[in-house]
Amino acid sequence: MIKFLRLNKWNILLLLLISIGYSSCDKTEDNDPVITERFLEGVYPNTDITDGPFIYDYGNQLTVKWIEKNKSVIEKSIVGNDFETFEADFGFPFEYVKSFQNEKENVDYVQTFSNVKNVVALSDIHGQYDVFVRLLRNNNVIDEDNNWTFGSGHLVINGDVFDRGNRVTEILWLIFKLENQAKSLGGRVHFLLGNHELMVLNNDLRYIDAKYLTTSRKMGTTYDKLYSKDLIIGQWLRTKPIIVSINEIIFVHAGISPEVVARQLSQQTINTLFQNDIIDGDKNTIENDPLLNFLKGSKGPVWYRAYFEDQNFSNNDLDAILNYFDKNHIIVGHTTQTRLVSLFGGKVIGIDSGIKNGEYGEVLIYEEGSFYRGFQDSGRISLSF
Ligand code: ZN
Repeated sequence: MIKFLRLNKWNILLLLLISIGYSSCDKTEDNDPVITERFLEGVYPNTDITDGPFIYDYGNQLTVKWIEKNKSVIEKSIVGNDFETFEADFGFPFEYVKSFQNEKENVDYVQTFSNVKNVVALSDIHGQYDVFVRLLRNNNVIDEDNNWTFGSGHLVINGDVFDRGNRVTEILWLIFKLENQAKSLGGRVHFLLGNHELMVLNNDLRYIDAKYLTTSRKMGTTYDKLYSKDLIIGQWLRTKPIIVSINEIIFVHAGISPEVVARQLSQQTINTLFQNDIIDGDKNTIENDPLLNFLKGSKGPVWYRAYFEDQNFSNNDLDAILNYFDKNHIIVGHTTQTRLVSLFGGKVIGIDSGIKNGEYGEVLIYEEGSFYRGFQDSGRISLSF
């Protein structure tokens, strides 16, 4: 027995095989040992943390909390409409928080838009604020002050803003601001939920940067609770869709599987089920419900990878999916590439261009029916199908 337990090359091989089997399970994703180690250490290497704002909505009162240069938490209540102080602190108009509060009950589950001339889409930003801002600035979506300059264009954030990187808070507030600015100027921002948004909201914190462990400890809570329904950003995330259609294009974080069609699930049904039953659903209830369990799992819209990885997924499968939704293209992130890629003659476009690595990134530009790859230096080329 003792001999069996001693590590020899066969035991190591066995452990390796078990760990390969484990990592291919849909709930573990590609485990990043660096992040895991730092997470377990629980120490952020840079102690000079500034993070926030975290705006708590206590019904009749908003309370803003933040961490400034690693001091203990600063807390201020907003009295009446006194947003100016905070505007100076955080650099964006807090009137947007008010307008969100007035609109938050009107959740759009249909998410279908037509006659849109210009779209810019990107995916899997994973906390990489600098690459995100550079891509938006150099592709004419925002100006040097990070204000909307895209007119009636639509910006699509195709999921996975959370995890890995350490400037998630800044990205969320920038999207929040741009969404408001775009709407008032005839444009739109669509922020689709990815598997990493769902993981954080469900207290699966394996991929958060160690900074956020420190942040949440300082805030006296856990990271998922900083995105609970008690906070403005938590409420806002809970209004976000899984699938959006613009003209002849479907946007979804990971993909739509043939099983979605077999189950005759519409875009509206999927958005409704995620927002009402999955995001805050009890784990056991979801696991015991075949439909919810399917949607949340590896063949559901936030985890599916077959377009890229399954040799058995065919052109006919894809045509059946596109016919069912009456669309011509599916735009997905989630499965990381080194650049934007078109598959199946452009019927699938993969837009996770590796922004998560913090250096390179591309956006998808859709202009008058044509697709382009947009770069950080403001260059662009046609996306060949
Ligand atoms: Zn993903």
